[in-house]
Amino acid sequence: MSTDRLLPSLTITDAKGSEDNPEEHAGNEPYRSPELYRGRLAPSPTGLMHVGHARTFWTAYQRARDAKGTLVMRMDDLDPERSKSEYVDAAIEDLRWLGIRWQEGPGAAGPDKADRTGNNGPYAPYFQSKRHRLYADAWRNLMRRGLIYPCRCSRKELAALASAPHEGAMAQADDEPIYPGTCRHLSADTAQLPGPTSGKMEPAPANWRFRVPDGAVVEFYDQHMGLQRFTAGVDFGDFLVWRRDNVPSYQLACAVDDATMAITEVVRGADLLKSTARQILLLRALGFAAPSWYHCTLVADHHGQRLAKRYDALSLRALRQRGITPLNIFSAELPILA
Ligand SMILES: [Zn+2]
Repeated sequence: MSTDRLLPSLTITDAKGSEDNPEEHAGNEPYRSPELYRGRLAPSPTGLMHVGHARTFWTAYQRARDAKGTLVMRMDDLDPERSKSEYVDAAIEDLRWLGIRWQEGPGAAGPDKADRTGNNGPYAPYFQSKRHRLYADAWRNLMRRGLIYPCRCSRKELAALASAPHEGAMAQADDEPIYPGTCRHLSADTAQLPGPTSGKMEPAPANWRFRVPDGAVVEFYDQHMGLQRFTAGVDFGDFLVWRRDNVPSYQLACAVDDATMAITEVVRGADLLKSTARQILLLRALGFAAPSWYHCTLVADHHGQRLAKRYDALSLRALRQRGITPLNIFSAELPILA
């Protein structure tokens, strides 16, 4: 496989700079055209936002604003068990409190709940939980072309893989264990899906994995972290695109949404670098152009641990209640906040 085709055609050299000083990039941006810039904020409403999210979303806001582009709010509420409407409201309120504004999606028009249906904008709906049809279309596309296969491994077998030790406290959140390929030989026919008696075939109830091209090098130029290079089958294995409980994987939903919402640059945390490599493979398989990427440095607490939503003391909500201002949040060192 040629890696050239995976390189976004608009990468430039010497685009590395500090995310805290977006002005440094002025005049040095690879945007197709300033008015076409489309960025997105994609919080998962599964908990309260913390300082790490604040800094990443602020960077996304700055980059969209500097490019005079459009910023989209998309709720990544795929997980029906963990996503809560109270966290949707909290995300909108917290981001607006920080001073972040966006033009499409829930909360774009103001802090009231009236427009939180997710339908305000040309790429509606803006809630992933309402975009199932698009993901199922992508699944059918991949399935018919033999690019994915049903995985019959039991929870127990997969859990055994997952219990392998992680590398250090800052291990990437998307560092799922490499799938050994047990079910790779299975074809779509073996999934024993309920026949398409009426309407279109649906993926559940089976797990589906993307067959990664072993040895293929996925390279992309990150606008903040420089050239990134991952090898399929070495850095990551056949990854899930669909779960048997009928929920698409983050990788599939994210790739489909970024493409169908015409996002030109994805700004997110560096914990998702490896996911970006996976999503580039999916985008290519689905015939979509890849956006540009900008991964932000992760924020660690005073123990060097990556911040997680469970640290409620560092939630924006808790900090605001303690009288800390948005300016403090963007300027202070985290140990001071902790
Ligand atoms: Zn399997």
